[in-house]
Amino acid sequence: MTVYDYGIIGGGPAGYSAAIYAAKLGKSVVLFEKDKIGGTCLNRGCIPTKTFLHWADLYTEFKSGVKKDIYRAPELGFSFDKIAEEKENVCNNLRKALELVLKTMKVNIIPYEASITDNGEIIANGEIFNCNEIIVATGAKPKEIKGLEFDGEFILSSDDILNLKKLPDKIVILGSGAIGIEWARIFAAFDVDVTIVEAAPNLLPLADVEVSKRIERIFKKSGIKYYTNCSITSADKSEKTVTLLNGEVLHTDILFVAAGRVSCDIGNYGQNVKVIGDCAGEIQLAHYATCQAKNLILGIPYNKELIPSVVYGSPEIAWVGKREQDGEFKKVLLPITALGKAQCDNCTEGFIKLLVENNLIRGAHIISKEASALIQQIVIAMQNNIPVEKLKEVCFAHPTYSEGIFEGLMRL
Ligand SMILES: Cc1cc2nc3c(=O)[nH]c(=O)nc-3n(C[C@H](O)[C@H](O)[C@H](O)COP(=O)(O)OP(=O)(O)OC[C@H]3O[C@@H](n4cnc5c(N)ncnc54)[C@H](O)[C@@H]3O)c2cc1C
Repeated sequence: MTVYDYGIIGGGPAGYSAAIYAAKLGKSVVLFEKDKIGGTCLNRGCIPTKTFLHWADLYTEFKSGVKKDIYRAPELGFSFDKIAEEKENVCNNLRKALELVLKTMKVNIIPYEASITDNGEIIANGEIFNCNEIIVATGAKPKEIKGLEFDGEFILSSDDILNLKKLPDKIVILGSGAIGIEWARIFAAFDVDVTIVEAAPNLLPLADVEVSKRIERIFKKSGIKYYTNCSITSADKSEKTVTLLNGEVLHTDILFVAAGRVSCDIGNYGQNVKVIGDCAGEIQLAHYATCQAKNLILGIPYNKELIPSVVYGSPEIAWVGKREQDGEFKKVLLPITALGKAQCDNCTEGFIKLLVENNLIRGAHIISKEASALIQQIVIAMQNNIPVEKLKEVCFAHPTYSEGIFEGLMRL
């Protein structure tokens, strides 16, 4: 009987990255995936939402061009069906490419649900697999709230929302983490009436408080309604209403519950079993899952304090490290409107905020077009303890958003 070096359960970013790294080292790998290779990220998460967001943002830009009388499009409209089709194509192409990489690297893909026996073997579709090391990378699933259980019609999860056949007129979103915010932006761009309900005192509760406040201001301007310090006590599918903690009743076509994700734990972990990715329940992000896989297989360390967070849409929101509410820091805040590139792009909303201590950047909080790319420059500086004085020596190209980092540094 074949004994594999690695048996990996779950083919999402944690599992497939571990498989690729192990195969690159010449190890024999068997990878179990009960659904689609690519996991949540590629099939139900990062990739499909960002495809919707891309077309939503473009539509918003066109609308703004028409408003300025730059574009003439008397019948500007969109096909939601076509966007959904595009999303499918993007996911399918990426999945095929990933499957090809895994096959080329001789990873044995078993397309069944797997579990670990009491003897420490893996069992899938009635077959036993012996593996020296087992990696559990089974991911997470949308969290259900008591009394607001998903029904696939009125109360939807982030999985259900991807299968919408047509846009609702009104939507209530429970939760304002990255998933809630990104979908609020998608729906609002397509002229859906959006209301967010958030239990915390501010939207995006994990962000720096100044970021949260700015996002609230941006949402107010763009017509996205929200309640903070609030929750939903009940939902009535036949009446199409939700009742808020404050007693208010809102009419809505859909209640989208985006209130976190819970680990898909399969239990039974022996000594040779390692758990990585979302199912480990730490930081539930695709790039963190990949870092964990890299660390486990290749021994390359990562700094948990320096995992960047990005919320997509227009403008992007990104941060890393300490937030203002975490301590006393020297702070510099550069308004994006000061940048030539932002003016050219008609994207002047936002800021770059740096928190500094002992001449080192301790945290960065950005609301700007390209914030996802900007934050990476700061992560590299932070990870390598590059002092502010040294960073000032770097030449930043013009006109760019990166110049904003330079301008910020020069104000310190
Ligand atoms: C709407 C949404 C948007 C997101 N956007 C982002 C983003 O922009 N950036 C970001 O970093 N993260 C994002 N995430 C989070 C990201 O998708 C996850 O952090 C990432 O997918 C975790 O990877 P994973 O491999 O741990 O788990 P998953 O990707 O969930 O993969 C786990 C896999 O295991 C399989 N599996 C489970 N049990 C078994 C079993 N017993 N046998 C066989 N197979 C099994 C599942 O079918 C699944 O394919 C988003 C998530 C959602 C829901």
